[in-house]
Amino acid sequence: MRVLLAEYTWPEVEALLKLDPVVVVPVGAFEQHGLHLPLMVDANLAGSVAERAAGEAQVAGANVVVTPTIWTGYSPHHRDFPGTITLDDKTFSLVVSQVARSLAGHGFRRIVLLNGHGGNANLLRNVVQSLYYEDGISVAAANYWDFALQELAAWRRSRPGGIMHACEMETSLMLASRPDLVQMDKAQDHFLDRSNYLAADLLSGGPLSVAASFAELSPTGVIGAPSLADPERGAELLDAMVAAVARFLVDHAAWPLTKPESGR
Ligand SMILES: [Zn+2]
Repeated sequence: MRVLLAEYTWPEVEALLKLDPVVVVPVGAFEQHGLHLPLMVDANLAGSVAERAAGEAQVAGANVVVTPTIWTGYSPHHRDFPGTITLDDKTFSLVVSQVARSLAGHGFRRIVLLNGHGGNANLLRNVVQSLYYEDGISVAAANYWDFALQELAAWRRSRPGGIMHACEMETSLMLASRPDLVQMDKAQDHFLDRSNYLAADLLSGGPLSVAASFAELSPTGVIGAPSLADPERGAELLDAMVAAVARFLVDHAAWPLTKPESGR
């Protein structure tokens, strides 16, 4: 079985649907990632984790395919930096919902939105709710890193504040997946020590939610410690994240499905 849905013909998709496969929709963003990383980090990482994890899940016997990555997301907090392309919240939710509706309309019943950008996460949670309660379509959404938080906590070398944006994690993962696009000589650390009430690290969030432009928070656009990034450790972490997502996909392929019309 091929991994990429884009390479199938429609009769092949018709045959695929009889296997009740999981379909993964990687969701990215197109936004600044400091002086040292390109705009496509989140789309690249969501897409490559999805593709590799689907391949591993297939080897483990699950039927899983991956759509092309939704390359732009919700990034108004990065738009002060040149090159960032963002959708507004309504448009983003509509794009993702309409992709899911198309898939569900063909008979895909196991739709996974695999997110690669923190700014998309709240909107995706809302999309999951509205697709189910308004359209009767069940989808699952998650950030790829959330499948491997324990591995990430054990892996990190930075103090709290070192993993947030264009950071120790993202820079290491990019060194593992696209080293040609990483300019390590330009990587500058930036820690955000504002208040314990505000999230300043992926692994230790504060209780408050506030909106702020990254241009106000960091002169380079980085929040975290990219100087600690390393290609070997990046490959280790990428492998761990792919394996964790693959385990979920194998699990999801066997889930009993709830039907909205009988879900009382
Ligand atoms: Zn990112």
